[in-house]
Amino acid sequence: MERYHFASDNTAGVCPEAWDAMAKANGGFAPSYGDDAWTKEAADAIRALFETECEMFFTFTGTAANSLAIASLCQSYHSVICHEYAHVETDECGGPEFFTHGTKVLLAGGAHGKVDPREVERIVTSRDDLHFPKPRVLTLTQSTELGTVYTVPELEALCAGAKKHGLKVHMDGARLANACASLGVRPAELTWKRGVDVCSLGGVKNGLAMGEAVVFFDKDLAAEFEFRCKQAGQLASKMRFIAAGWVGLLKTGAWQKYGQHANHQAKTLASELKALGIGVVNPVEANAVFARFTPEVKEALHAKGWHFYGFIGTGGCRLMCSWATTSVDVSSFVTDLKEVLAKG
Ligand SMILES: *Cc1c(COP(=O)(O)O)cnc(C)c1O
Repeated sequence: MERYHFASDNTAGVCPEAWDAMAKANGGFAPSYGDDAWTKEAADAIRALFETECEMFFTFTGTAANSLAIASLCQSYHSVICHEYAHVETDECGGPEFFTHGTKVLLAGGAHGKVDPREVERIVTSRDDLHFPKPRVLTLTQSTELGTVYTVPELEALCAGAKKHGLKVHMDGARLANACASLGVRPAELTWKRGVDVCSLGGVKNGLAMGEAVVFFDKDLAAEFEFRCKQAGQLASKMRFIAAGWVGLLKTGAWQKYGQHANHQAKTLASELKALGIGVVNPVEANAVFARFTPEVKEALHAKGWHFYGFIGTGGCRLMCSWATTSVDVSSFVTDLKEVLAKG
């Protein structure tokens, strides 16, 4: 039996809250390209989520959200600073470089997937001549690709450092719900209140079928963004079905609930693994667990049908929990692991 439960948080289906809202949106005719009532309602729900006036646009994918958001902040001769394991660098096939027509991605180090503020300082102050691509944006992933979370003071320091040098701050919030749940804070505390200018807000990994939101807290930066979306093929004509999912997710509180749920399952999984003597590589602060399986154990688990990936640069196998991960899923995995370990 093929089992994709822990391979990613996008192997799960659509959550019932989003599905129900999409079914409701499926009645009759409605204006296209976002001029419908669902899109208006979703926009209001996102403003309520962030407790501020903001402009937002929906894209089909997170790659498009990140690439277009960064493109809106940069000229081709600029550079964008991100962590060396950032999705923007490792998993977007050069999307940010493509949509910016040449903005260079500069890599910053930092433990457990979090950008070290000293790295930003080092990069920004390394050169100021016109032969070097001018640093313009700092992009931070929250929660990170390694399943860790920037604390409020950490974000405060990073944003302050960026602003000091005139950088804009973008947040890849593909898993912002998990970060909020982890810290027990509202989205505003991790974004505009700290100085984030633009956020790619994730919904898919939290239960949507598709449709991430690019949220501009500085409305001036949103100027003409709709043209960017359209040109990039990211303006959905039947927008109401993306918007309805968001309405379902936000108005029922599911966005927060599933963030907590996925984190909780990851914590349980991590403690079960540790109890079996399996090393866990990064602090488990969100919905990812990086396990140090021996090659033999990994193979044996794959042979039992469990899909998961060995992840770049981290030395661990990544196990993701999602809105749909059940306690039974966790215990089935652990039972199989015990069997594998017993056979030695
Ligand atoms: C999944 C993910 C995205 C979005 O990826 P798409 O496959 O393009 O939707 C963006 N950032 C991070 C950190 C992710 O994990």
